[in-house]
Amino acid sequence: MVWNAVKPERSPEVIVRVEDERDVVTAVRLARAYGMRVAVRSGGHNWAGSSLREGGMLIDVSRLGGWSVDAGSSVALVGPAVRGRGLAGALAGCGLAFPVGHCGSVALGGYLASGGLGWNPGVWGPACRSVAGIEVVTAGGEVVWCDERDNADLFWAARGAGPGLFAVVTRFRLGVHRLPAVIVRSAFVFALEEVERVASWVDEVAAVLPARVELSVVLGTAQGGSGRKVVSVTATCFAGSRQEALGSLEAFAACPWAGRALERTVEGPVGFGALMDASDALWRRGDRCAADTLWSMRELAVVLPALAREVERAPWGRSLVLASPAPPVPGGGLPDMAFSMLGSSYVAAYAIWEDAADDEVNAGWLRGAMDRIGPLGSGHYIGEVDLQAGASRVRRSFAPGAWERLGAVRARWDPDGVFEPFPRGGWEVG
Ligand SMILES: Cc1cc2nc3c(=O)[nH]c(=O)nc-3n(C[C@H](O)[C@H](O)[C@H](O)COP(=O)(O)OP(=O)(O)OC[C@H]3O[C@@H](n4cnc5c(N)ncnc54)[C@H](O)[C@@H]3O)c2cc1C
Repeated sequence: MVWNAVKPERSPEVIVRVEDERDVVTAVRLARAYGMRVAVRSGGHNWAGSSLREGGMLIDVSRLGGWSVDAGSSVALVGPAVRGRGLAGALAGCGLAFPVGHCGSVALGGYLASGGLGWNPGVWGPACRSVAGIEVVTAGGEVVWCDERDNADLFWAARGAGPGLFAVVTRFRLGVHRLPAVIVRSAFVFALEEVERVASWVDEVAAVLPARVELSVVLGTAQGGSGRKVVSVTATCFAGSRQEALGSLEAFAACPWAGRALERTVEGPVGFGALMDASDALWRRGDRCAADTLWSMRELAVVLPALAREVERAPWGRSLVLASPAPPVPGGGLPDMAFSMLGSSYVAAYAIWEDAADDEVNAGWLRGAMDRIGPLGSGHYIGEVDLQAGASRVRRSFAPGAWERLGAVRARWDPDGVFEPFPRGGWEVG
């Protein structure tokens, strides 16, 4: 049920593995009849295993993996169990693309419900921006369609509520995008001691790069076994031609600290598959992981040096921090949705280790590091936040207005509390 090798000690009374939306209706009605609370699982990738709650019924929709694409209208109908790699591959065959998660193994169900921070965000936005409608089974056991016109409040909530969603999504209608003709990836790797000057430069260059360039920074350990701590900066450009890509990356290539880099690479064209391979290599099946996130209104020049000190102390070499300047809001803006962009910089930190005997020291390292940089933060991302770190993590994953509104929409669609609410920290619910 859970991808992370750290398995929660919670377990449901019954797991219902459904084949179609009619099974979901039957399951929800059965749960109601027995007074059971309902939780949902698509791909099991939530780091904290949020689909596993204590007692009640878990509805496992991992067999709802069908999809179809209408290339003419740029629309795809997709089941919640479809994985990013599968969708990206199928769409590429039609010259189309979707902002799937950076790792190919992430299923769309929980990813889109959380918002979805995926590829090419400056042009495509968070993935939930490209959701045009959803089919859900409600707490009342009815199948309803939701979009901007019909059941718009539930549609609003389903794009951002993440593990607190109070309905089962059985199908997404996605607006898909034209596949960029060329993807070029350019990167510098520096010693971690260079983090201050590198972070200042990243803030500066982010302000001038075109929206089609996705910038990301990793604080971690160099590949190749040297054990050296490094800061790598990668610019991935999604362009119409190689010439456009190289032109878009000019400001990046002109890095004033290029001479201090340990490594410099320019690769392209690369496919979506290669992009996802690079991300998938960071987390391996069987890894024990803990994750947490932070939005900040401060520049990376402030946030990253503080995080670098934490990475120096990480008990396990594969632990890492990902960071990026918040991408520009795409043309046309973001629709009104529960998903909240809460800062101008974004950080996701991961403790990664292999042995259960090291659980406490690694999970403790991450918790301590995020607590120490907490004062720099303005919020969290519900899709990867440490749900067990305290009640405020969940509330602070939403803009205050969105949090209030989510409560009101929940009260309307799930008045009897059939769906498990958000954990309040430590997983006590109420
Ligand atoms: C290796 C890895 C890489 C990741 N990379 C990214 C990334 O690049 N960008 C990003 O944004 N996130 C990323 N994530 C986080 C991921 O998006 C979330 O954990 C998301 O919940 C995963 O979707 P899932 O269907 O596997 O979730 P699950 O673990 O199956 O479910 C999590 C929660 O989502 C809700 N849910 C799931 N499916 C449904 C449904 N059909 N209907 C209603 N509610 C549902 C449930 O409340 C459930 O508790 C990554 C996670 C991992 C482990």
